[in-house]
Amino acid sequence: MQNKKWGIVGGGMMGMTIAHRLAQQGHDVTIFEAAPEVGGLASSWMMNDVEWDKFYHVILLSDFYTRGILRDIGVEHQLKWVETKTGFYMGGKLHSMSNSIEFLKFPTLNLIDKFRLGLTIIAASKIKDWRKLEKVPVTTWLKRWSGHNTYQKIWLPLLRAKLGDSYERTSAVFIWATIQRLYGARRSGLKKEMFGYVQGGYRTINNAFQKTLQSEGVSIKTKARVSEISSVNGVATIRLENEKFDFDEVVVTVPGMLAASLIPSLSEVEKKKLQNVEYLGVICVALLLNKPVSPYYITNITDTKFPFTGVIEMTALVDPAELKGNHLVYLPKYITADDPLFERDDIFIRDYFLKNFLEMYPAFNETDIRFAGVAKAKQVITVAAIDYSARLPKVKTSLPNIHIINTAHIKDGTLNVNETIRVAETKLNEILNP
Ligand SMILES: Cc1cc2nc3c(=O)[nH]c(=O)nc-3n(C[C@H](O)[C@H](O)[C@H](O)COP(=O)(O)OP(=O)(O)OC[C@H]3O[C@@H](n4cnc5c(N)ncnc54)[C@H](O)[C@@H]3O)c2cc1C
Repeated sequence: MQNKKWGIVGGGMMGMTIAHRLAQQGHDVTIFEAAPEVGGLASSWMMNDVEWDKFYHVILLSDFYTRGILRDIGVEHQLKWVETKTGFYMGGKLHSMSNSIEFLKFPTLNLIDKFRLGLTIIAASKIKDWRKLEKVPVTTWLKRWSGHNTYQKIWLPLLRAKLGDSYERTSAVFIWATIQRLYGARRSGLKKEMFGYVQGGYRTINNAFQKTLQSEGVSIKTKARVSEISSVNGVATIRLENEKFDFDEVVVTVPGMLAASLIPSLSEVEKKKLQNVEYLGVICVALLLNKPVSPYYITNITDTKFPFTGVIEMTALVDPAELKGNHLVYLPKYITADDPLFERDDIFIRDYFLKNFLEMYPAFNETDIRFAGVAKAKQVITVAAIDYSARLPKVKTSLPNIHIINTAHIKDGTLNVNETIRVAETKLNEILNP
């Protein structure tokens, strides 16, 4: 393809990766990002005087796409790798489930249940063709492999934690992809999986990515909310409130329903397809504490009485010295965009989550909490419903020079930066080499 003028809508990891690959091939690229800074879901915020990711982010040793970008932008050497532990909060108690011995000692499951749980994980890790799993509800698949007891005690709380009530509509691809990610290291020949982060968190990554893009000649417009995208006689136009820009090609990276509203001349069928992709949102309370909560990076919660469905202790992975000696904990809850909790103000949400956090960890009281903040995003994860890939909107639209590439195109993986970059690179390749 000859060198062209490209406009990219969205300056998250997807938009930046697409811009980077286009610029490397000599194209003239402009990114439009509504927020004051690039990074999107992977951007950072201030918690008192500490800057770290707004939502928790971890990098896996087997995240080769992410590591490729980190190399390109010159921060791969700042990666720190740590072996982390996993906990379960069950029946009012914390249990470790970080190795085979702890697995065997794990309460509430008998030996047969444990054997079946292990078998389920092995079965999922061996499956190569995920397409067959798209026809099977995740609940059916897990009950079949693990049995009733393990399903009720382990899988159901985990499904609810990650998918809210949407688990009922989700196919077995979801659990397959989750297990594949955790076993990714072994598949790719690495001995074990490790969790990592870049020193300084995603702030370091976003700053370095922005600098690299600028050095490649990419123009990055922040505080640039796109209001309309159109295409007439081979010219694609991006409109902001008071300005317009013409391009040969435009790539839109925002969620489906938003893309549909930005491009009025899409056909009704295309708009419906985009609007029908179901997303889950997240409400995530971040706490800075004066001491650690547990040794676990993730604590899965199987008790349904808590509003949050997991506890992510970032400083079980990240050196607290990175955060001025503070301990950082995230309390996430995944819900649909129409959940009434999204209507409540931040003070209500903060107090509601805090009250439950203090109940869960009685060794803590209000004086141990140095910061509590609420982060929200309404369209985060697409629900991998039955026959998801067949119903997915195409990258190519009926407007020849307008393309939509977003995380809805992750059809055989979980939502993470590695999959986001993989989709960005493979879909862009399809546009450039039809
Ligand atoms: C709670 C949580 C935990 C996560 N944990 C991990 C993890 O541990 N590891 C991992 O690898 N990944 C993790 N992720 C996933 C990761 O954040 C995403 O995969 C990635 O950030 C998606 O990037 P994106 O560019 O596709 O989307 P986004 O980041 O959503 O980017 C879209 C961009 O478009 C902009 N935009 C929207 N509308 C307009 C408009 N009209 N005009 C201009 N710009 C617009 C937005 O501001 C945004 O910057 C997590 C995400 C969440 C929410």
